[in-house]
Amino acid sequence: MATSSSAELSKAVKQQYMDLPQGDKVQIMYVWIDGTGEGLRCKTRTLDSEPKCIEELPEWNFDGSSTYQSEGSNSDMYLIPSAMFRDPFRKDPNKLVLCEVLKYNRKPAETNLRLTCNKVMDMVENQVPWFGMEQEYTILGTDGHPFGWPNNGFPGPQGPYYCGVGSDKAYGRDIVEAHYKACLYAGVMICGTNAEVMPAQWEFQVGPCEGISMGDHLWAARFILHRVCEDFGVVASFDPKPIPGNWNGAGCHTNFSTKEMREEGGLKAIEESIERLGKRHSYHIRAYDPKGGLDNARRLTGHHETSNIHEFSAGVANRGASIRIPRTVGQEKKGYFEDRRPSANCDPYAVTEAIIRTCLLSEEGDEPVNY
Ligand code: ADP
Ligand code: MN
Ligand code: MN
Ligand code: MN
Repeated sequence: MATSSSAELSKAVKQQYMDLPQGDKVQIMYVWIDGTGEGLRCKTRTLDSEPKCIEELPEWNFDGSSTYQSEGSNSDMYLIPSAMFRDPFRKDPNKLVLCEVLKYNRKPAETNLRLTCNKVMDMVENQVPWFGMEQEYTILGTDGHPFGWPNNGFPGPQGPYYCGVGSDKAYGRDIVEAHYKACLYAGVMICGTNAEVMPAQWEFQVGPCEGISMGDHLWAARFILHRVCEDFGVVASFDPKPIPGNWNGAGCHTNFSTKEMREEGGLKAIEESIERLGKRHSYHIRAYDPKGGLDNARRLTGHHETSNIHEFSAGVANRGASIRIPRTVGQEKKGYFEDRRPSANCDPYAVTEAIIRTCLLSEEGDEPVNY
């Protein structure tokens, strides 16, 4: 028998082993971002007791030459535990631990964008920056074809699928439900889900999260999604435009506020931030996908509820703008705003750092990008 996916193995047989007691030992799954800046890697070690905080977790290492992170001759990379979650797959007392990656010389790996993000967040701690990110993604079969789409051809045109219900409208809800529960168990700040405009495309929201925890929680949620999809024999894609043509792309709208913006009359501070963002459009586009704008160029066409990648725009309740002020925020004159430009495969550490640098540290200067 040829078995193509672990999803085809008997989950009933597996459960017999998963139910075995594990004594005093604890399994810690170390998770990190690989050299692509998008891919996640993981490996597990046993500890003798349950860690109560991140400081109790030992550093570890891995072979960077196998993750696009170093050459074979100097391949040891360090894993620095950074954020700990309950493991929804192995369950308590086991843990998932998100790690920063350092090179042999203990400098951050090229795709470790958490270190500088963390420094920037420390500088503005007193303004209590909150983020909320809306992660869109597409469920694919292992053949790369969107889940539930006909083998040859396309489903009916977009219209009935967004927030849809029914077998002919919601493609793959089992994944969404399993992921939602798994995130809640883990302690990830997931705050909602919905079916998207393109069939087999979905969204989950994480937030509001303060400072560096935005990136930590979004990466943890992504890891859990990939792991859930593995159990079901499907694949989660964060490609910003998985199907070219008249089908919506996938973004990662990033909502942002400070203490001042959330207080009475905060709209003024929101407008000031938007004005700063308008002067640094290219800088942000460069930070909003792992290829410096190239990925987003396929998505930000000015159609399908996106803005054009070459232009900055802002407006109340405008889903065709770079920045949207939600209608209730416009009415109450306080709250938050939404940056709709980040790509689904963005690094949330890069996105949140760029927003803080422009809006709160008042950094200026911009250089055009060729996309
Ligand atoms: P949309 O209408 O754009 O689809 P969603 O309901 O999908 O909005 O997502 C809203 C996001 O905004 C969530 O991630 C939520 O955590 C975040 N959010 C809500 N209030 C704030 C706030 N004050 N500051 C930052 N983010 C916020
Ligand atoms: Mn949304
Ligand atoms: Mn959406
Ligand atoms: Mn949105």
